[in-house]
Order: sequence, then C-alpha cells, then structure tokens
Amino acid sequence: MKILFILSAFALVGSCATKKYAVKVQDLKDSIQIVDSSLVVKYSNTITTEELRNHLYTLTSDTFKGRFTGEMGQKMAANLIKTYYQNQQISSPFGNDNYFQIIPESFLPKDTKASENIVAFIKGEENPDEILIISAHYDHLGVTKGGEIYEGADDNASGTSAVLEIAQAFKLADNDGFRPKRSILFLNLTAEEIGKQGSEYYTLHPIFPLENTIADLNIDMIGRFDEIHKNNKDYLYLIGSDRLSNELHYLSEKVNTTFSKLTLDYRYNAENDSNRYYERSDHYNFAIHGIPVIFYFNGEHADYHKPTDTSDKIDFEILAKRTKFIFATAWQLANMNQRIKVDNGIIY
Ligand SMILES: [Zn+2]
Repeated sequence: MKILFILSAFALVGSCATKKYAVKVQDLKDSIQIVDSSLVVKYSNTITTEELRNHLYTLTSDTFKGRFTGEMGQKMAANLIKTYYQNQQISSPFGNDNYFQIIPESFLPKDTKASENIVAFIKGEENPDEILIISAHYDHLGVTKGGEIYEGADDNASGTSAVLEIAQAFKLADNDGFRPKRSILFLNLTAEEIGKQGSEYYTLHPIFPLENTIADLNIDMIGRFDEIHKNNKDYLYLIGSDRLSNELHYLSEKVNTTFSKLTLDYRYNAENDSNRYYERSDHYNFAIHGIPVIFYFNGEHADYHKPTDTSDKIDFEILAKRTKFIFATAWQLANMNQRIKVDNGIIY
C-alpha cells in the first residue's frame, strides 16, 4: 500500500508537470495574433514567378562568372543588386548612395580580394531602432579549372532573388502608406561559400546594434526540391526557428497555416543532425550573438556545388510560394505589437 501510495503521488506530480508544460505551449500559441492579413495577401501577390525568373536568370548569366568573392563577376553582381535597390527607391542604411559594406582583404582568406555586402533599408514607422534582417548570400564558386561557370542558380541566386522580391513588396506597401512598424535591413551577403565571412563581418561591424536586431531570416537555396519531397514539392526545411525563441517558431507555424500551407519539415533542425546545417549558412553568425534566426532551405540535390546547378532546373512556382511565406513571416515580425522574445530553449 505504501509503495503504491508513493507511486501514485509521483504520478500525480508527473501529470501536473506535464499539464503545466502543455498549457505553457498552448498559452504561447494562443497569444500569437496574426496582424494585417489582407495587406499581407495583397503585397504577397507582388511577388511573381516572372520577376523571380528575371532576377535569377540575370544573376546566373555568364557575365557574372559564378560570382566568386572578390572577383569581377561578384562585383558586377553587387552593382546589379545595388542598382535594383536604387531603381526601386529603397534607400541605403547609410543615408546616401553607398549600398556597400566593404569586407577588407585582411578579413578574408589569403589571396582573396576585398568584397562587398549590399545593404538596403526601409525605416520603421513606430520602432525604427528595432531591426529585422532578411539575408541571403549572392556569392558563389566562380569558374572551374576547365573554365566551366558555376551558375549557382539554387545556391544562391534563388535566395537572392527572393530577397529582392521581398524588398520590393515591402517598398510597394510603404509607397501606399503601409510602412512597417520596425525597420527592415535587406542584407545581400558575400563570402558565404568561402567561410561565411560576409555575415561574420557584419556581426562584428553591425550597421545597427545587435541588441536591437530582433531576428534574421536567412535564405539559402529555395528554388528546387530534393529526392525526399519529389512527390510533394510544396515543402520547405526550417532550421533554427525554435533554438532561441519559441515565440518565433510558433509565429512562423501560424503564418504558414494562415497564408502558405507549405509542409514545414524540421528534420534538419534536430540538435544531433549529422549535416549540421544550423551552423552552415549565414544565419549562424547571428545566432551565436543571441539573435533568433530561421534558415530556409530546400535540401541538397545532385547538382549541389556543381556547374550543373543551373537556372533551367529551378521550379519558379515553388520559389514564389516559399518567397511569399518568408515575406508573410517578415511582415509579422516587423509589425507585431511587441518585438519577438528571446525565450531560449525548446519547450515541446
Ligand atoms: Zn549557399
């Protein structure tokens, strides 16, 4: 009887704890309110397959010679991206016509020339000091010894094109009087392929204080599908969303169920995932400074880091759907009442 009593007392404690835990998650989910639904839909629709296709085919053309860090092709791509922001009348965070954050040669591996991050900015209306970063690297692997160009269509002309379309969508909303509450920095990063030095440099020399940087949404390869999902292309891998902020994770989930209905696949978010993708793209440099991140990724494929990663293999329908989902998430982060909380840790 005594033993049984002790056991049932334990069971009681256990169930209470479990209930508390479940309630905590439910409370968090219930507290998340989607804002501006109709505006999100309206400006999502400015993100089109045609424009994504134009950006991507331009970035991958031979002119840019595989966009290798520090080389002429990368610099021409940087100028192309800068010109795009200027044409869209999206300003520089420096307040002039300089859109480049220069990474000096001394910061880069031996024999690599100085290179540029490109930065564009929409200033927030109510909390301009709070900054949301939307990032993607635009550099790639250059040219093979045999002279074949690495187009890097998926890696990462797809993410770069997505950032350009998201920036335009926010700017069109701004033009119509719907400026975001918080500021948004569009960050086109260099030197990812040679060791993520573009994002490392940014976080060591941030244009805006890192403590006011509310999150980084980082896009690296979102224009293709992998073997696992060949029968359901409407998916996306999300990595990191719950590592620093449960609120970010559940917000992202709610945005998806409200607007996008993609299959969000978290298999690579597992702490013991042998691919270690969480550490392998630019968001990681923000995460190590305690800034919540989401890494958006379609997984690897046979053309990964090969000259055969070409534009003709991009699925523009799915690229557009994923871009709209990221835009909708960014809209919430920029416009929700309180900035996203860093509530550390996984509670499910
Ligand atoms: Zn990449």
